Amino acid sequence: MKYENIKDTMNALREFQFKQAAIRHAMGVLEYDGETVAPKDSADGRARTMGYLSELSYKMTTDPELFELVYSLDGRKDELDTEEKRMVEIIKKDCDLMTKIPMEEYVQFSELCSKAGNVWKEAKNTSDFALFAPYLEKIVEFDKKLAAYINPEMKPYNALLDMYEDGLTMDTLDAFFGKLRTGIVPLIEAISKKPQLDDSFTKTNFPIPAQREMSLEVMKTMGLNMDRIILGEVEHPFTTGFNLCDERITTHFHEDDMLSNLFSVLHEGGHAIYDMGSKPEYDYTVLCGGYAMSIHESQSRFYENIIGRSKAFAGPLLEICRKYFPLQFEGVTAEMFWKAANKAQPSLIRTEADELTYSLHVMVRYEIEKMLIGGTLQVKDVPETWNRLYKEYLGVDVPDDRQGCLQDSHWSGGSLGYFPSYALGSAYGAQFLSIMEKDVPDMWEKVAGGDLSPVTGWLHDKIHVYGSLYKPGELMDQICGGFDPQYYIDYLTKKYTELYEL
Ligand code: ZN
Repeated sequence: MKYENIKDTMNALREFQFKQAAIRHAMGVLEYDGETVAPKDSADGRARTMGYLSELSYKMTTDPELFELVYSLDGRKDELDTEEKRMVEIIKKDCDLMTKIPMEEYVQFSELCSKAGNVWKEAKNTSDFALFAPYLEKIVEFDKKLAAYINPEMKPYNALLDMYEDGLTMDTLDAFFGKLRTGIVPLIEAISKKPQLDDSFTKTNFPIPAQREMSLEVMKTMGLNMDRIILGEVEHPFTTGFNLCDERITTHFHEDDMLSNLFSVLHEGGHAIYDMGSKPEYDYTVLCGGYAMSIHESQSRFYENIIGRSKAFAGPLLEICRKYFPLQFEGVTAEMFWKAANKAQPSLIRTEADELTYSLHVMVRYEIEKMLIGGTLQVKDVPETWNRLYKEYLGVDVPDDRQGCLQDSHWSGGSLGYFPSYALGSAYGAQFLSIMEKDVPDMWEKVAGGDLSPVTGWLHDKIHVYGSLYKPGELMDQICGGFDPQYYIDYLTKKYTELYEL
């Protein structure tokens, strides 16, 4: 053994984490640059550089020395502190996966996904599912094999779910979605019988330079440190971060729809606050930033929906909007603004769905993935099943596959089992709120005054500061004494009953 004592071994593992984070930093900046400001003809050169960096990164993750370090530390777990133990656990999960999947299959799969991504884009543009179907078939077959490699004892879809969210199973999700459906569908029906809320004043004309200025002010109001974050413009908004002092969020400006950008900024800003809230000593380690996508979404949606679309925050938000668009918001009250921001209507596209109907979009994807991996649905029948479920859950007719089963990129990237995190995140957020309201009794008063610091302070102390130290289930236990989706249903029922006077 090269390393004499456990401290040296742990330091060597930290060094590995630093090098991996450094390569991710370089690749992340290139990717962000490519998505936002890079000139059109720069793609080939960037792909060349990225190819080399991915090779470096791959070599590093499969370095026998790393495996030796991780497995030797895992054998001496009792001598490590909680944080070190967790570092080893996270890295070991990756190493285990690498040792379980035969190398050539892994490479073939990466190639398949990169081709599938291009084919999916074309299939979506031309609304031609038959073009994408052969690729999806291969991806489903690989994911089934992958599930067996990860854990042959588990049901295949459970093994895939566990990859994205430790311990998540179909039993939990069936109960969760079942409960959501029973709670949400009657609300949607009741709303359909009421006059629709008016959002027309948010869809007039909002010049982009002023929207940009307004977005920066929203970011400041959220408490983001503007020396450590920038706002970029893209087609589909996302967030990426490289270390605790360098975070990038993005948005898309629509001249005729100002709410789209406003809530994108609140959403992505929420991801950023989480990412940047880790303990400083976690920087450049696997503990830095959020671990599971469900918790990440719980934070972004907290700022976007629970705070951003609350009655209390409508006043401060309207004030900011009015500063940049005085004419457009002439005569608009906080109550009118709150209602416009919460208009609920079953629709076709998940990423544009309102807070109430969003989870049902996720539920359709969950049901289909479960059947594909369970072998009870064939790929060729996906469009028909998709359209049937959209009619059943949301009451909408899907006119074509572009607005139906081809709308998301996830399946082309091989990620089956990932979607449920989105819906879980919203439900986690509502449960966090119930505790926060008890811990910070004047939180809504503060929010109504435009002060989000008690909210962010609570989230920081309970969640952000820990980065990836805890798994989602552990966090839910610590903060809420276990996960209970009823809080989410109660939250939605209360909110929409008031909004639509049900
Ligand atoms: Zn998000």
